[in-house]
Amino acid sequence: MSKPATESVLLYRAADPIEAALLEAMLVESGVPAWTVGGQAAIGFGELGADAQCVDIRVPTANHAEALELLDKHYAKTTNSELDAKPWTCGKCGETVGPTFSSCWNCETPQQA
Ligand SMILES: [Zn+2]
Repeated sequence: MSKPATESVLLYRAADPIEAALLEAMLVESGVPAWTVGGQAAIGFGELGADAQCVDIRVPTANHAEALELLDKHYAKTTNSELDAKPWTCGKCGETVGPTFSSCWNCETPQQA
């Protein structure tokens, strides 16, 4: 067994090799040296058989914080928080009011829940 020269930490355990490969590519493209451990390489380890499809993504300890941030951003993109921020129409004067206002800018009628 050869040890990696760099001290590394487990960043994320992916459920399948495809997700792991995508995340690894995303990290490497962003300048973080990342590599995967597990998946097909784990087959043949016997006791690890049940985990054979799980793939660990490891990064150098020095890059851990940066990698976590990239991971956060990566997953934030897939959830659409903008769905909640829609303009609304005032029930009193019919003006269209921006999502940042909780009451009508025109007549000060509060937004209906
Ligand atoms: Zn109004």
